[in-house]
Amino acid sequence: MAGKQMQYVIIGASAAGMAAAEAIRKLDSQGSIIVLSEEQDMPYFRPMLPFMISGKKKFPEMILIGQGPYQGANIDVRINSRVEALNTAGQKVYIKNGEELPYDKLLIATGSLPNIPSDIGGLESEGVFVLRTIADARAITHRAETVRHAVMLGGGLLNLKAAFALLERGLDVTLIVKSPDVLSKLMEPDDTVLIRNALNKAGMKLMTGSSVTRILSDSTGVIGVLLDNGGEIPCQMVCIGKGIRANIEFLDKSGILVDQGVVVDKFTRSNIQNVFAAGDVAVTFDQITGERIVTGLWTNAAEMGNCAGRNMAGRPSIYSGTFGILNATQVADEPFVSMGIVHTKGADYETHIAATPKTYRKLVFTPDGTRLVGALFIGDISKAGLYRYIIRERMTIKDIKSEIVNHRLHYGHFLR
Ligand SMILES: Cc1cc2nc3c(=O)[nH]c(=O)nc-3n(C[C@H](O)[C@H](O)[C@H](O)COP(=O)(O)OP(=O)(O)OC[C@H]3O[C@@H](n4cnc5c(N)ncnc54)[C@H](O)[C@@H]3O)c2cc1C
Repeated sequence: MAGKQMQYVIIGASAAGMAAAEAIRKLDSQGSIIVLSEEQDMPYFRPMLPFMISGKKKFPEMILIGQGPYQGANIDVRINSRVEALNTAGQKVYIKNGEELPYDKLLIATGSLPNIPSDIGGLESEGVFVLRTIADARAITHRAETVRHAVMLGGGLLNLKAAFALLERGLDVTLIVKSPDVLSKLMEPDDTVLIRNALNKAGMKLMTGSSVTRILSDSTGVIGVLLDNGGEIPCQMVCIGKGIRANIEFLDKSGILVDQGVVVDKFTRSNIQNVFAAGDVAVTFDQITGERIVTGLWTNAAEMGNCAGRNMAGRPSIYSGTFGILNATQVADEPFVSMGIVHTKGADYETHIAATPKTYRKLVFTPDGTRLVGALFIGDISKAGLYRYIIRERMTIKDIKSEIVNHRLHYGHFLR
C-alpha cells in the first residue's frame, strides 16, 4: 500500500466511530476518512438524551462535530447513510441509496439496539417508546407535552435516567421492574437504600417484582398497562428499557464472526482481514472477571474506538478490555459509581460496607483479602478514581489495605 492514499470507512458516527476517526487522522493526515450514520442528525453525545427530554439541554449543546478534535479534521461524516450489507471479499459496503463504497480499512461501530421483549402485547400502540436516538428523544418529548402519566418498563440505568427526565418535566412516572430491585446489574438489593430513598423523594412510583403483559390502547394511543397479577395502571405513554443488544443484523452473510456481538482480537480486528470493530457492537472482555462482555458505556466505546483507529492506521495497539465504571452517573441527584465485582451474595468475597444516612460504600476483596476487585460508592464518589486504579492495575494492597477499608486513601499512597 506504500504511497497509496488509504480509504477508511467507519460505520457508526458515535463514541467509537468518532474516536476512531480522530485517532486515524492523528496518524494519517492524508487518508480519506468516511464516517457513515443511519441517523438523520450529526453525531451527538448520546448519554445526554435524557437531558433533552427534561428540557435541560438542547441539541446544539450535544453535538460532537465542530467540537475539540472534530474541528477542521477533514472527517467526512455522512448522515442518513444506512449500510445494508458488506462484501468483505471485494472490500465494499452497500449503502441504502444503492451506493457502493470501497474501503481499505473498515470499522464496524454500529453500537447497540434496545431489547424489545416479545412477550408484551400491544407494543405497536401509539405512545410506546424506547430511548436510543435523538429521534426517540424528540418523539418522547412530543408525547410528554400532552400527557400526564408515563409507565417505564425496566429498572436499568438508562430507563431510570429517562424516568427522571420525565419526572422533571412534571409527569407522573411509574417504574415497573421485574427484578427485586432497581439497578440490579450495578448493585445488589441491600445496596440500594439511598437510591430508593432518592426515588421516593423525587416522587417516582416504584413497583418491583412486577411485569406488564399487555399495553392497552384506543384511538388516542396508550391508555394503560395490564400487569401480570391482573391489575391495570392507567397511563398515556410507555417507555421500554429492558437492556441492549449489539446492532449486528446487517452483518448477516458478511462472513464476519459474531457471538452476541462482533468478535474481535486484542487488536480490535474481526476474523476478516481489514475489518475492525469497536464500541457497543463488539464483544470484548472484562478486565476484572475475564468474562467476555458487550460494553454499554460511552467511555469504553470511545477508548476502544481510539484503539481501533490506531490499528487501522497501522500503529499496532492492544485493547486491554473494559472496566465498568460510570463516571459521575447519578440517579435522582444521587451520584454513584459501581465497578468490578459488586455482586457478592453466595460467594466468598471479603466485603466491607460502610453506610451513613447520606453515603454508602461497599468494597469487595478477593476471598483471601489480598486484592481489591470491586467497589460501589453512592452519595460520595470523590475518591472513586483511586479505587478504580487499584482494581484495574491489580495492585498489591498489603501496605494500604486499612487506608482503603477506612477510606483514608489519597494520591500520596501511590507515590511511594
Ligand atoms: C439514554 C442513554 C443514556 C446513556 N447514559 C450513559 C452514561 O451515563 N454513561 C455511559 O457511559 N454511557 C451511557 N449510555 C451508553 C452510551 O451512550 C453507549 O455505550 C455509547 O453510545 C456506545 O457508543 P457506540 O459508538 O458503540 O454506538 P452508538 O452510540 O450506539 O452509535 C451507533 C452509531 O452507528 C450508526 N449505525 C447503526 N447502524 C448503522 C448502519 N447499519 N449503517 C450506518 N450507521 C449505522 C448510528 O447511526 C450511530 O451513529 C447511555 C445510552 C443511552 C441511550
